[in-house]
Order: sequence, then structure tokens, then C-alpha cells
Amino acid sequence: MSENDAKAVGPRDPLVSTDAHERPVELLQDLIRFETVNPPGNEKACIDWIGELLEAYGIDYATYARDPERPNLTATVSGGDGSPLLLYGHVDVVPVAGQDWTHDPFEGIIEDSHVWGRGTLDMKSGVAMFLATFLRLAAEDEQPPGDVHLLAVSDEEAGGDDGLGYLVDEHPELFTDIDHAIGEFGGFNLDLAGVDTYPIQVNEKQVCWLEATFRGNSGHASFPHEKTAMGQMASFVETVDRERLPVHITSSAEEMFESLADAVPPEQAEQFQALLDPEQTDNVLDAMDVETKMFDALLHNTANPTIVEGGDKENVVPEEVTVFLDCRLVPGQKPEDVIQELRGLTNSDPEFEVVRFDPGPPAADLEMFEEFGEILEAETGGVSIPLLMAGATDGRHLAQVGVQSYGFIPMQLDELPFLDLVHSGDERVPVETIKWGTERVYEAVHEYEG
Ligand SMILES: [Zn+2]
Repeated sequence: MSENDAKAVGPRDPLVSTDAHERPVELLQDLIRFETVNPPGNEKACIDWIGELLEAYGIDYATYARDPERPNLTATVSGGDGSPLLLYGHVDVVPVAGQDWTHDPFEGIIEDSHVWGRGTLDMKSGVAMFLATFLRLAAEDEQPPGDVHLLAVSDEEAGGDDGLGYLVDEHPELFTDIDHAIGEFGGFNLDLAGVDTYPIQVNEKQVCWLEATFRGNSGHASFPHEKTAMGQMASFVETVDRERLPVHITSSAEEMFESLADAVPPEQAEQFQALLDPEQTDNVLDAMDVETKMFDALLHNTANPTIVEGGDKENVVPEEVTVFLDCRLVPGQKPEDVIQELRGLTNSDPEFEVVRFDPGPPAADLEMFEEFGEILEAETGGVSIPLLMAGATDGRHLAQVGVQSYGFIPMQLDELPFLDLVHSGDERVPVETIKWGTERVYEAVHEYEG
């Protein structure tokens, strides 16, 4: 299929034919045309279409839903005696409001050799690759080494409570035999401190939302007051905003920075190794001449004040003020650990409440990392890195049922800045790399022995 052909297709019914596995770019365009903006998601039409496509190939599927408008779909292609492998992705996307777009974000237009639209990077490109690979496995005579499961879920972008979170809570039996999965975040080229890396996400920080409530003297606002809730909150926020929490070196950070150190010249390698010495970490971060926000986040718990509530009348000093904190904990840390760190850092003693905690595994299982990494290295000459991620993905839900997720959506984006385009206006992906990535996923499935 040439690019022009794909463009000429224009608005049409979504593809339902038994050569769909040879047309991953059209699958991506079709996926983009379902407006699955979360909230509210509205993923049903998209999931139903995936079901129709599977039916066309003679593949049975099942759906599971907490909210009937937000189903999750599973299907299996039978393989040999090898361990089963899961390919999973989310079909919801983030909103486009207030963003500048050259093309309609839901038309799936091809121009300048790129597919444009919401989800071209996160992660309808991945869903298209997984779907095309899965359909190809079903169409071929040769069996994959083990069973291959496909899972298309709703609601990743808002935490997965209707998606993977729901499945692992209510249907853990779906994952009983599975040790490893291929999903998002990784497989694309990313410049990390001047190194051409192909990160493969293997672990992630843990979401921990807290409320800190301050109480103090209240009264009429025409008099001076000491030790007010407002004043205590302000001084707490000011400190949290300015200072780092203590350094934590986790095995996932070690694995990531050591593989970065192996890939750079000796002088720079020393810097990466020094990052892993807690006595030196903060000084090295301050001295590095690259953007280090991401590294910083991987070596500390973080806490960002995001919402303040308190006071409801102009002339009354409030008795109580609450600040909401979005904390992200490095693997292995618990809410009580970060609460203790916050008390120590700010020398204050508000009442803390844990609003949400999504625990993740203390360490990653790297069994498949090298095998998947080598597929990318052989093709690109880049360096694969076991990525600890600052943000959250559905990988954390899978970890709850003992499934290790590998972020593997292979893409060669050249100069396109993935991290700037994801969730932003003009999100786009090179057409050719969708086909290339699909081949790599297919290779990974065939090389997977578990
Ligand atoms: Zn995503």
C-alpha cells in the first residue's frame, strides 16, 4: 500500500476484511477515527469494531465491562507448548481541547509521510501493531511458540478503574498463566543525555495521592492571628515546592542508569554511576548539563501540591485548610514512608490522609528485556535501556496479578520529539514506522519463549 493509497481511502467504514493484518497503517487510521477521548472514553464503538475484525478472521473473543459503554476485549490465538504471551493496549486517548492542530485530530489524515491525530503515539499506534500482529498469527498456518493473548482495554488515561484495574480486581483468572506482556511505553528512539536509546519500560513509579489538612487559630479577619491554618499550609507548600525529598536508589534505577553508563563515553559514564551513590546524587543532578527532571524523579519520591481548599468567607480566618498532594513513590516505598519524609522536610505536622495508592512491584523481572532489546538494537544500532518510568501506565495493574509488562511499541521517530508530542497538539507518527514496528512486534512474539 502506498501512502497515497492510504490517503485516498479518506472517510470510509472501518476496515473489516481478512487482509487487515497487512494494513496496520489503515488500522491505525481507523482507530483514530473513533473519538475515544477520556473522559468520558466512549470506547464501545471502537472495541466493537475490533471484535468484528476478529470475527472476520474466525477468532472468538470475550468482553468484560464494569460500565457497558466501556468494555474491555480479550482473545487468544493458540500456539505451541511455550509460555503464553500477552499483547495489550488501551484504546482511550486524552482530550484535545485548547491545543493547536494542523489537521483534525480524529480524521487520521496522512500528510508529509505522517499519520496525524490523537493517539498516533499514545497508543493507537501500538494497538494497531498488536492487532495486525495478532490477526497475522491467526491467518498463518505456522503456530506461534505459545498461546498469544490480545487485550484491548478502556480507561487507561484516567487510571484504569473501568479498564485494566477492573480486570485484575474482578477477573484475575484471565491472567493466571501469564508471566509476561508487551504493552506501552517504549520501543521508540529517545535521546537520553546524548545517547540514542530505545527505552523499554519495565517498572514505574507508584501513584500516591495525599491530602494534608492544617488546623489553626481562626476568627475575625480584622485582627492579627498567629499559627493560622493558612500560614502553616503556605510554609509547608513553600518548602515542598523548593526542596527535594531524600534520595532512594532502587534496583530499577540502578539497572537503567548502569545500562546508560555502558553506552556513553567514560567521563559521562562516571556521572551516571555517581548518580547511584546517594551521597552524590543531588549534587550530580545539579551539575549535569542536560535536562535532568526525569532522572531526578527516578531517584526520589516526589510531591507536588496541586489543589488547595480552605476559607469560604472574605472576613473569616479559616480554621482548616487542606492541600492536595500528587506524590509519586519510587518502587518499594509506601505512603507512610513519604508522609514521614514530608513531616521531616517541612518540620510540620498536618493530618495526612491517603486518597489513592496504586502499589507497584519493588523490582522488575528483566527475563525478557535483553531478547526484546536485541530486536531493536539489531535493527537500529541504538541502545536498549530498561526504563523505570516516572509516570503511570496500566503496567502497574498487571503487576498486581504477577504479569511483567515490557514497553515495546517499536518506532523510529527520527527527530520527532515523542515526549513533547504525546498528549499534545499535532501528535503524529511516520507512516513507514508503523509497518516497521509491526514487524518487530511479530518478531518478538516468535522469539518469545518465556
Ligand atoms: Zn498510553
